[in-house]
Amino acid sequence: MGTKKLMMAALSVAGMAMGSAQASDKEVYRFMEDNNLHLQDSGFAANMTQEEFEAIIDAAYAIYAPAAKAKGEVLKINAKWSDSTVNANCGRNFGTVTVNMYGGMARRPEVTPDAFALVLCHELGHAYGGAPYIRAASEMSAEGQADYYGAQTCLKSLLPKIEATGEEPSDYIANKCARASNSSLCERQLMAGEHLGTLLSTMKNERTPDYETPDKSVVSRTELSYPKTVQCRLDTYQAGSLGLARPACWFKN
Ligand SMILES: [Zn+2]
Repeated sequence: MGTKKLMMAALSVAGMAMGSAQASDKEVYRFMEDNNLHLQDSGFAANMTQEEFEAIIDAAYAIYAPAAKAKGEVLKINAKWSDSTVNANCGRNFGTVTVNMYGGMARRPEVTPDAFALVLCHELGHAYGGAPYIRAASEMSAEGQADYYGAQTCLKSLLPKIEATGEEPSDYIANKCARASNSSLCERQLMAGEHLGTLLSTMKNERTPDYETPDKSVVSRTELSYPKTVQCRLDTYQAGSLGLARPACWFKN
């Protein structure tokens, strides 16, 4: 009898000893709002194969496992290729960070391998992206921060591990990256963000965002959930990729 209760008690003590928050199951943060795009999944690969999908996840794991260990945590990244969900999510619970990546996202026509890497970086950004946090106790970064850190820090270290597709940048992107220390890496970062901007605008029935038309709105306090517009998310990818300040459309200094 009482064994289960005892185990639960031991578990909660372990969680407290590691200083991690005892997050509820609901404390899981997604790449984007819940949607019905999984209904469009044919199950056939679009821009990447299952092998490429798994290789990107393995590369990210290799980069972040030491960071997790340094925090006294375990990192798990689940590669759910056969799942049609067009999203991704991350939770931190009892000293374990769990990221779920879905084939439905990888098979979207808008999503290139680099863009998929940015989705994964958004999820890793929730766990390792720093303040502002959605809830300080669990140290899970705000949506805008997950985008910003994902584009700036995570993607910069992950993209060199992923074979480039030879995609040509727009004149705007080529020009923006001309003076970057690694211009081809900078171009890949911005192109990845652009693809996700297109996906998000499809999902939300908003106009396709454009790096050249930033969201000029200014928040009176930091938005911890999704920025109000897809354009604002795109602006955040640009700011992260170019090492600029976080946009005022979601971040309040
Ligand atoms: Zn998120």
